[in-house]
Amino acid sequence: MADYDYDLFTIGAGSGGVRASRVAAAYGARVAVAEEYRVGGTCVIRGCVPKKMLVYGAHFAEDLEDAKHFGWDIQHCKFDWVKLRDNVLNDVDRLNGLYTQTLENNKVEIFQERATITGPHEITLASGEKKTAKYILIATGARPHVPECPGHELGITSNEAFHLDAIPKRIVIAGAGYIANEFAGIFHQFGAQVTLMNRSDQLLRGYDESVRDRLLQISMTKGIQFRFHANFQKIEKNEDGSLKVFMSGHDPIDADCVMFATGRVPNIEGLGLDTAGVELNDTGAIAVDENSRTNIDHIYAVGDVTGRVQLTPVAIREGQAFADSVFGGKPTTVDYSCIPSAVFSHPPIAAVGLTEAEATQKYGSVKVYQSDFRPMKNVVAHRSERSLYKMVCEATTERVLGIHMIGPDAPEIMQAAAVCVRAGLTKADFDATVAIHPTMSEELVLLK
Ligand code: NDP
Repeated sequence: MADYDYDLFTIGAGSGGVRASRVAAAYGARVAVAEEYRVGGTCVIRGCVPKKMLVYGAHFAEDLEDAKHFGWDIQHCKFDWVKLRDNVLNDVDRLNGLYTQTLENNKVEIFQERATITGPHEITLASGEKKTAKYILIATGARPHVPECPGHELGITSNEAFHLDAIPKRIVIAGAGYIANEFAGIFHQFGAQVTLMNRSDQLLRGYDESVRDRLLQISMTKGIQFRFHANFQKIEKNEDGSLKVFMSGHDPIDADCVMFATGRVPNIEGLGLDTAGVELNDTGAIAVDENSRTNIDHIYAVGDVTGRVQLTPVAIREGQAFADSVFGGKPTTVDYSCIPSAVFSHPPIAAVGLTEAEATQKYGSVKVYQSDFRPMKNVVAHRSERSLYKMVCEATTERVLGIHMIGPDAPEIMQAAAVCVRAGLTKADFDATVAIHPTMSEELVLLK
């Protein structure tokens, strides 16, 4: 190893890259990481973390509205976007500092610049400095995909949403996945008129149909508008500076802001993958095996750049498994089955395991149990929104194959339920567990 400057050179200091680098260093490896933007990556800087803070901020709109039914008389209530935005961005700075400190504490050398692979074991930094490493880890993540259409440059993506000067009065969000539904809820709660448009007629593809339908119904009741089978045609600027969005199958919509939330593409450009001979898969992501190894023996890739599962905790596991296997003498692979996930919409969705449709296709027949209920808090608050919990079981053994929930705190409840599903527990195990009363989560052990 002494022939190289480093044992490991990581390109990209996001969730996967930071975990891999610090764990490898803790095993005694000499590690460097290059990051052209900010240490922390999408999740910390312009993704999950600041988004969740906005979700918290947005919830106050309904909570304050509901408060009067609980006896509170709140006068002079108004929302200050700039204050929330700046508080969130300050916390992002704090986290960026903590992530940097973690790397430094583990003696990982940080280069705040772009890095390109220029030889089998050689990396050239933007400054022109060349470094060599026995292993190279690509953890450059992904970026928002913006559909090609005239005027697309007039729109924003989630990257810019955290920096807006003001909440737009009218916003059109393209896409109907995670980001579109989460930001639809956020902007709506902050008072914007939100229209969500999607090329297909489905939102949140991959989630169980019942919870998707419930979110659509609740969102429409709240006043969020939807345009399905709508493909972007063009965006034009109106004389007053606002935007006109043209789409197939529908009349144009005037808006003050257009946000693209149409998936994310791996950051592979300018990395020197051709020079290194690293192959891509058919989705344009870096092709890796179960050990996150590319077709080149000493080059690995983890996280969104591999296009496997674009979730932070998965990237972290991949980074950890890589470091354990290559530097810790503990060969480890990531288990991609039974990954729980959540959409922080209003209300949120959470899921683990197979949807009813997937289970039916795989097992032929399944048993479905569900609870469709109005949370106690909503009753007092005169809020009509109903929650839905659904359990999909194998027909004969009643092993739980999937749980799907929409309702307040569903992601918080799901984390524990996911342990049960992953452990292969049955409906009888849930039934045998005494309820915690009164809670929403008790519905999980009372399902009929
Ligand atoms: P998603 O994959 O969730 O949704 C993409 C949406 O855009 C879909 O509605 C899709 O339509 C549509 N779409 C895709 N390609 C095009 C195109 N070329 N033209 C027009 N529409 C298109 O992507 P997001 O951008 O919302 O999020 C990216 C990823 O980030 C997610 O997949 C998720 O892994 C991760 N993420 C996770 C979060 C969480 O865990 N809570 C939060 C935010 C992001 P159709 O359905 O018809 O294909």
